[in-house]
Amino acid sequence: MARMSAEIAAGDFIADTVRADNAAGTYSGRVQTRFPPEPNGYLHIGHAKAITADFGIAEQFGGVCNLRFDDTNPDTEEVEYVEAIIDDIKWLGFTPANVFYASDYFGKLYEWAEDLVNAGLAYVDEQDAETISAQRGGYGKPGVPSPYRDRPVAESLDLFRRMKAGEFPDGAKVLRAKVDMQAENMELRDPVMYRIRHGHHHRQGDAWCVYPIYDWAHGQSDAIEGVTHSMCTLEFVNHHALYDWYLEHLDLPYEKPQQLEFARLELTHTITSKRRLMQLINDGVVDGWDDPRMPTLRGLRKRGYPAAAIRAFCTHIGVNKTNSRHSIAELESFVRAELNRVALRRMAVLRPLRLVIDNWPAGQVEWFEVGNNPENAGDGTRQVPFSGVLYIEQDDFAEDPPPKFYRLAPGREVRLRGAYFVTATSVVKDASGRIAEVHASYDPATRGGDAPDGRKVKSTMHWVSAEHALDAEVALYDRLFTAEVPGESTGNPMDDLNPASRELLVGCKVEAALGETAPGEVVQFERLGYFAKDPNTPMLFHRTVGLRDEWASIKKRAG
Ligand code: ATP
Ligand code: MG
Repeated sequence: MARMSAEIAAGDFIADTVRADNAAGTYSGRVQTRFPPEPNGYLHIGHAKAITADFGIAEQFGGVCNLRFDDTNPDTEEVEYVEAIIDDIKWLGFTPANVFYASDYFGKLYEWAEDLVNAGLAYVDEQDAETISAQRGGYGKPGVPSPYRDRPVAESLDLFRRMKAGEFPDGAKVLRAKVDMQAENMELRDPVMYRIRHGHHHRQGDAWCVYPIYDWAHGQSDAIEGVTHSMCTLEFVNHHALYDWYLEHLDLPYEKPQQLEFARLELTHTITSKRRLMQLINDGVVDGWDDPRMPTLRGLRKRGYPAAAIRAFCTHIGVNKTNSRHSIAELESFVRAELNRVALRRMAVLRPLRLVIDNWPAGQVEWFEVGNNPENAGDGTRQVPFSGVLYIEQDDFAEDPPPKFYRLAPGREVRLRGAYFVTATSVVKDASGRIAEVHASYDPATRGGDAPDGRKVKSTMHWVSAEHALDAEVALYDRLFTAEVPGESTGNPMDDLNPASRELLVGCKVEAALGETAPGEVVQFERLGYFAKDPNTPMLFHRTVGLRDEWASIKKRAG
């Protein structure tokens, strides 16, 4: 992992903190971070921001970044997610120094919990969850101590051991830290550390029936691993004091890690809550976690978003302290910039209209050598066949052209890219009156696409030779949600779903070179945009992004 260092914004507050720590000799100059996903779903674009920050800071300061699964909840976690997360991080371009599991620390966490009990800093509470929650009080409302709060240490220890031994049913007892029932910060009002759960853990099996709460697992796992800077999102600001309290009362193997909070990444027209993303799948709105409309890394990848573009976007937005929503068009501009550099150019006709060139010598095929990418001569050239029957886009022809329509029309001359000038002469209609084919003549002197007499045409169009073309299907995508902030007006994002977020075109005609395109590769269809070949279905292409920001202009028109 060597690519992010120079890209990370030098001024970000986390880097400033690390610099200050290094200058002061805290952690003896050691920098260690971690990315701590819960394996209860697939990674999404928000996680990409966290990953870029976690790995980026480690890289920038010559440190280490580990992947740690925060797998403390047996009910929601699965091996499927673990494997997908490992794979997605690799795809994104990062290599964890180690892969750790919080569940591997259950033994140490339990031992530390007994230490707190022995120190009179934790107790077993036998009240139910509602009572505990009610007693916690609220802001300006005093907390009520549990009747078990001052029970003898030996009693708590005995009960805690029996909780672990499986003597009690789910929910019968909890272990709570004895912090401060009158603290202004509610998280400090004797938080729960352990709950009883007779569940099957994806890694630990049935070895445990007490499970640590997030707050009791997270900072302790950081400490066990030797994390120095523990980055998380702003919703954990309130947990910061508890993170510190636990660590201050334990005998740590390394210097105490510090929690640093940064803003979540949210994008317009999309959602990043794993619960909501799961709902989209369960409701059948999308095909799965890898549906190209999903903001998951799987979805974006299938859609054709290059990992490099996602990294560049995350680096560009940097880490900050204020929650904000970035425009999805901003992300798309990074995708376009990257693809413009790397995507091979191809010709594809999505809604074909036959163009018959009447003065073309019968049966003749001419091969043009066409560059694969004007941005990179190293991508070479290919041979593209031209013949007397071609396909052009239906909307590149108008029998009765409206004002400002400069494409093909009866009596009008246009350029077929890289080939010849053609002039439409007549149309043939089918029984229903639809245009079945357009007839045209070509000017042999314009070979290669320029007229020796210098005459100009107003339009250059893409085309494919009918007899050489391959059939393809093309999925066009639009925003999954019509509202910039899904759910802003009703509270339910599902109310803002775009019913037309996918349109599948069949019978598309594409140049033969696209048969050779590798599964998953993204190419530019000239004049149309960038398209990713489906990894599994042959000759299915997903529109990654258009060549221009069409959404902005659609919105402007809608006014
Ligand atoms: P959810 O609440 O939807 O289950 P989560 O945020 O709890 O998701 P985790 O798997 O716990 O998901 O997240 C792993 C790490 O990624 C955490 O450090 C979390 O703060 C960070 N993260 C998650 N979502 C975002 C986001 N939208 N922007 C930035 N960082 C995020
Ligand atoms: Mg979480």
